Amino acid sequence: METRREFPLPDTSWEPIREFWAGAAANELRIPRCASCGRLCWYPRERCRQCDGEGFAWEAMSGRGTLFSWVVVTHPFLPQFGDLTPFAPALVALEEDPSVRLATRMVECDLDALEFEMPVRVEFRPLIFTDVEGEVTAPLFVPA
Ligand SMILES: [Zn+2]
Repeated sequence: METRREFPLPDTSWEPIREFWAGAAANELRIPRCASCGRLCWYPRERCRQCDGEGFAWEAMSGRGTLFSWVVVTHPFLPQFGDLTPFAPALVALEEDPSVRLATRMVECDLDALEFEMPVRVEFRPLIFTDVEGEVTAPLFVPA
């Protein structure tokens, strides 16, 4: 597998998720909603996993949710993460549909004080990695 030079920055031009990153750049958390059954569909895919529909409209979420799962990383598993440790990759359940769980990161908080189902809210922050040029604005989360 070829590694992009920008790795681990996300490829914001990749069509299935381009609107997610465009939303983040505009400080909006956008998730696709199925035009047939009306359910949020995350992670984006060509057809709805509920009804097999294939039309979606991207919709701005409130940015509120609860902490579903997390880990605290103290040893960087890749050199690009060296300046980040300790950090907390997390899954956040969205208020609009808690079965939608967004892979993100908890920031600007006491990592030892994180609790299951604690209320959190989105904050848009640049992803910056050690020795990687450029940055991408991403939806990260803080305690609400
Ligand atoms: Zn559907």
